[in-house]
Amino acid sequence: MSKLVPPHGSRELKPLLLSGGVLNQEKKRAEGLKKVPMTSRETSDLIMMGIGAFTPLDGFMGKDDWKGVCDDYKMPSKGGLFWPIPITLSATQELADSIKAGQEVALWDTETETIMGSMTVTEKYTVDKKHECQQVFKTTDPEHPGVAKVMDQGPVNLAGPVKVFSESYYPEMFSEIYQRPEDSRKVFEERGWSTVAALQLRNPMHGSHAYLAWVAIEVCDGVYIHQLVGKLKPGDIPAEVRVKAIQALVDAQFRKERVVQGGYPMEMRYAGPREALLHAVFRQNYGCSHLIVGRDHAGVGDYYGPFDAHNIFNEIPKDALVCQPLCMDWTFYCYDCGTMASMKTCPHESKAEIDDNGNYKGGSRLLLSGTMLRKLMSEGKPVPKEFSRPEVIAILKEYYDSVEEKVEVKLHGAATGDVKKQ
Ligand SMILES: [Zn+2]
Repeated sequence: MSKLVPPHGSRELKPLLLSGGVLNQEKKRAEGLKKVPMTSRETSDLIMMGIGAFTPLDGFMGKDDWKGVCDDYKMPSKGGLFWPIPITLSATQELADSIKAGQEVALWDTETETIMGSMTVTEKYTVDKKHECQQVFKTTDPEHPGVAKVMDQGPVNLAGPVKVFSESYYPEMFSEIYQRPEDSRKVFEERGWSTVAALQLRNPMHGSHAYLAWVAIEVCDGVYIHQLVGKLKPGDIPAEVRVKAIQALVDAQFRKERVVQGGYPMEMRYAGPREALLHAVFRQNYGCSHLIVGRDHAGVGDYYGPFDAHNIFNEIPKDALVCQPLCMDWTFYCYDCGTMASMKTCPHESKAEIDDNGNYKGGSRLLLSGTMLRKLMSEGKPVPKEFSRPEVIAILKEYYDSVEEKVEVKLHGAATGDVKKQ
């Protein structure tokens, strides 16, 4: 009997990936079906359903669930089960008009030009996209990368149960870390763990992340370093470089028996607090009892307060999730404490000054933001050793030196430490 948390709203994981003879049969049949092109976000959601990471979803959501999720975090089709972000598939008006209710369609990934699955279309509906954005992203600003994607979707949503044929290139491209929820659960069980804290990563792991993971290990059986291998925004470090840099840090600074690494194929939405909730839902499916939620979790720019993602867990019903947040305060390296610390522990108030050559000039707290690290490195400036270990910096430097076209990294308030705690 597993000591791990149960999957979300279900006793068993519900992977929708087909295999064996049924897979071959359905794939063959799908070749004759009308193709519905998917965006990269839709493809990544389909794979998440395929591997059971979105248990207990059966497919892309209908209008009642879309509305319930947007307005009340609930899916009426699942007895009002908690869900934080709509999982939908869009189409052009013309394509939607050509499909009848009850018709089976092939789900076409435009990036790899493959049929990724099939869906029985049970419903076609239009939505108020601005309303969705306001609810999910708390903004309708077209500059927000998540809003931009929703506004760019086709005007009609198609809903229905799906069959999934493939996990695309992820298992092969990220063979060292790619995991399905059944894989991570198996590893946790073999280690006899019952409490596991997930550390969400989409950037290279730096000193602050390592500190958060350490704290989590103190209170849980182990930590699951779970990194996104789906699509990011321009200027972010590519997944293969990130994997290498994280491995270097884990090798240098962690006990092997307390760490498991994994990668998941979801695309970032940058929905801040709402995305933190989605991260908790699928981490529960991966077998995690806790999700580490630090400063500005899943945020972008200055759209969210640094601790909005903590507060939202108090705004949802108590029984919404089994996976609970491990809320951690703003962490930094303190030159006066001589160690990593947080706003909750360190008594020194002043900000550390670092000159253009990366040298310490006085003051106490050095905020180790990933954005700041990327900015220093992309401008070819030295990085203070407190940011991360030299082996990690070396891997990242090698990447930045190889990038020909530099993408300007904009520093927003939360990355410079200029935003006051809310
Ligand atoms: Zn201090």
